[in-house]
This record gives sequence, structure tokens and C-alpha cells, in this order.
Amino acid sequence: MTSSTTEEYDVIVLGAGPTGENVADRTVAAGLRTVIVESELVGGECSYWACMPSKALLRPVAALDDARAVAGSREAVGGGRLDAAAVLARRDSFTSNWKDDGQVQWLRDTGIELVRGHGRLAGVRTVTVEAEDGSERVLTARHAVAVCTGSRPVLPTGVAGLADAHPWTNREATGSATVPKRLAVVGGGVVGVEMATAWRALGSEVVLLVRGHRLLPRMEPFAGEFVAEGLREAGVDLRFGTEVTALERPDASGPVVLTLGDGDTLTADEVLYATGRAPRTADIGMEQVGLHPGGWLEVDDSCTVLGVDGEWLYAAGDVNHRALLTHQGKYQARITGAAIAARAQGLALDTSRWGAHSASADLAGAPQVVFTQPEVAAVGLTLAAAEQLGLRVKAVDHEIGSVAGASLYADGYRGRARAVFDLDREVIVGACLVGPAVAELLHSATIAVVGEVPIDRLWHAVPSYPTISEVWLRLLEGCRG
Ligand SMILES: Cc1cc2nc3c(=O)[nH]c(=O)nc-3n(C[C@H](O)[C@H](O)[C@H](O)COP(=O)(O)OP(=O)(O)OC[C@H]3O[C@@H](n4cnc5c(N)ncnc54)[C@H](O)[C@@H]3O)c2cc1C
Repeated sequence: MTSSTTEEYDVIVLGAGPTGENVADRTVAAGLRTVIVESELVGGECSYWACMPSKALLRPVAALDDARAVAGSREAVGGGRLDAAAVLARRDSFTSNWKDDGQVQWLRDTGIELVRGHGRLAGVRTVTVEAEDGSERVLTARHAVAVCTGSRPVLPTGVAGLADAHPWTNREATGSATVPKRLAVVGGGVVGVEMATAWRALGSEVVLLVRGHRLLPRMEPFAGEFVAEGLREAGVDLRFGTEVTALERPDASGPVVLTLGDGDTLTADEVLYATGRAPRTADIGMEQVGLHPGGWLEVDDSCTVLGVDGEWLYAAGDVNHRALLTHQGKYQARITGAAIAARAQGLALDTSRWGAHSASADLAGAPQVVFTQPEVAAVGLTLAAAEQLGLRVKAVDHEIGSVAGASLYADGYRGRARAVFDLDREVIVGACLVGPAVAELLHSATIAVVGEVPIDRLWHAVPSYPTISEVWLRLLEGCRG
């Protein structure tokens, strides 16, 4: 540490990912002088090592499959494979080659001040920022500090040789400049299945190792079954009930040998661990405000941190563990910004179910798309989750391919939709759609679930003919009889 100055703001935001950027945007819009602290790239994990690059890798896979699914265009693309170099170059453009100039300019244009360095809470409404050169700045906030530091990948403990094997995490899996000849993917959640899809299509031989017996375990079981079928058809070697017990990579640039639970071994050029996320809270000074370092930050619906007096500390985005998704983080950011602005004006918060200061939709069920082939789009409760909550529910399933719009979309369209109806409240509490191009259908389901639109009213919301959306009619008919 070489020098230390103190600067006062209205609001300090820790972390300039999508969540932090949106908190700052809202507080500046409310007339509050706001500074954002960022230790890496402005834009966060989402922009450089998660949503953007992963979807840039996956979009060409869907485009090619779509062309192949229709007689006429199928002949035009023939049996060609993706041009990996072109796909990687397009991915690089979406990450701005891992440079954040554009996002820094947006901060400037928006009136948000930026301090680069590692931020730590240092007491009530106080943050210290350690710059790369070791110098330190002390920032104080008149009103609020919002922690938006996101999450990091978790590697399992007890796997011999894991650290020395230099495994890929989401960063290398979304950012690699070359296509490994053989890629082993560990984990059957969203990141595992998406990255297996992308790298297989780019030319890797992919083996997907899953400890349990299904993919996407938090979704309806049929979602994982369709995705497993898609992966197998694409040539992925999918192995369930498999644990990796040891890794060996004597030469960092050479292959890695994985030992599996049954004693078998397999050799890969890279191994990706997609085995969950942990909060980035180990070194942000949580102990200075009486909280346990390293844990998820527990918040109420206004994203105010619980267990800290004075209602000045907020946590939004991945770090509060409510929903590890960019759109939910940005939603929480809008709520957090509004709560900070209200309290700064001495106003009471409206944290009622539909209140301006309540991120209650996180709990109604966050929408999520899995960009595999086929796609999965889900919102709200699964049938099993609704039953566990003791709701009186009815699930209606429909094969999407029977709908005219779907059969036009792809020859032999394969996909399934499920709606979970709450029979007492007469609303939909969950929906899951699997099939080509279902991602863009999800928002209609989100409106129905989050808006609690009565089934009798949904009946009058007529989907266009001939679109895949007509599956809604079949689901509603299935409920109404
Ligand atoms: C491979 C992958 C694909 C994904 N795809 C999608 C998707 O398609 N759609 C979707 O909705 N979600 C997706 N997600 C999830 C999404 O990336 C996260 O939910 C989102 O990035 C969370 O945003 P955030 O702002 O809370 O955190 P982050 O994006 O992680 O940003 C946090 C920021 O805080 C900074 N920071 C941390 N600690 C400090 C500190 N002490 N001082 C200063 N700065 C600090 C970090 O450097 C970072 O810039 C994906 C995740 C992965 C891993």
C-alpha cells in the first residue's frame, strides 16, 4: 500500500457485472452520485466468460441444425460442418476480444464513475479499493453499498491431481482459441450440456461424465431425456453414474488421463469441470460488517442484506443465490436501485408481492433457457416441485410436433411441452418446453406464470397460426377438458 485518499459518494457498487451496472444505472437515474468498483473487466462474467461467448458458440450450431431440418435448405448445406475458425472469430467479436472499452464508455455516458481495483468492505458504508499497483483508495457512501461480486466456479475436493491437471472452467470453455481434439466434460447441468453441445459441433470428440442418472436435474425429467438424445445423436459419449476419482497430467501442454470410479481410464486433451458455482465473497471484507466471509449473502426481497444494521448494505445478482441468471440479476438490480433511491429520499419501501421494491418474481420461478439441441425453456415449478409444496396440481403434456407451426418449422419436429396447472388458484405455476426454437416462446409462459394470468383469460389469448405457440391451445384444452 503506497497512498490512501478518501472520497465520498452517495452509492458504491462493488462489481461491474450486469447486475452492478444496472444498480448503478438506476441510482444515477435517481440523481445519486454513484461509483462502481471493478477488479477485472467492466461487464463481468456474463459478457466475457459466460452468457455472451457461450451463446455466440451455440448460435451457429442451432442455425446449421435448423437448416438441416428442412428439405430444400438441407440439400443446400449438405453434410458440411461448422467453420470453427469463423465461429470462434464471431465469438471473439461478442466479447470485444476481452476488452471492456465499450462498457467503460457506457459507464461514462451514463454518468457512473469507475474505480478499478479489488474492493473490500471496511466498515459501515465504507469500501477500500486496492489498485493493481498496491495503492489504496477509501470510498465512503452517504446512502448505500451494493455488493454485486457474482460467483466463481467450484471444483470438487478429493479428486487426486485435479489442480495439477489445469482443468478448464467456464472461462476456458467459453474463451478457448483452439478446438481440443478430445474434451472430457464433468457435470450434467446447464453449463456442462451447453459446452458439450458447442465443442462437439466445433469438432471435438466429447465425453460427458455425469455423477447422477439424468441431465438437467432441476428441470422436468423429460428435458434431460431429450437433451441426452440430442447429445448422443451429435456423437457425444454420454456416461451416467460416473465419477472422476483422479487426474494425471504430467506435462501441462500434454493430454490428461482421467481415472473413473470403476477403475477405467480415459484420455482427453482438455477436461472441463462444470460442477457448480460459489459466491465471490471470500475476500470482500464481510467480517468487517459482522458477516461470515465466503458465504452467499442472504437478502430480503428488496435485496437488503440480512443481519447488518442500518439498511445500507445490499446484495444483488449471483452473490445472493436467489437465481444465478443474468436477467434475474438485472431484475434484482432494478429493485435494488429503486430501494436505494427510496430510502435516500426517506420513503418507506413497498415490498408487497407486486411492490416496486420486491424482487418477488425470483421466487415465482425464474425463466431459464438451455441452448442445447433441442433447446429447453422453463419457468416456474416443475410438477415434482409443485407436488412437494403440497399444491393440488395437474400436469398437461403435449408433443409439440403435432402443432402445424412446428411441423412447418422442422421436418419431423421433436419436442414436448408441459404446463403445470394449480387447480385451486386456476393458474399455471410452471411450464417446460423442449424442442427447436422454443427459447423465444418462453416469455409467454413467464407472463402466464409470474403474472398469475387466470386460465379462463389465457383461453382468450390466441396464438398466431401457424406458429409453434399454438401448443398453448393444446395445453389449455388439456386442462379445461
Ligand atoms: C458458462 C456460463 C453460461 C451462462 N449463460 C447464461 C445465459 O445464457 N443466460 C443467463 O441469464 N445466465 C447465464 N449464466 C449465468 C450468468 O453468467 C450470471 O448469472 C451473471 O454473470 C451474474 O451477474 P453478476 O453481475 O451477478 O455477476 P458477474 O457477472 O460474475 O459479475 C461480477 C463482477 O464483480 C467483479 N468483482 C468480484 N469481486 C470483486 C471485488 N472484490 N472488487 C471489485 N470487483 C469485484 C467481478 O470481476 C465481475 O466483473 C451463465 C453462466 C456460465 C458460467
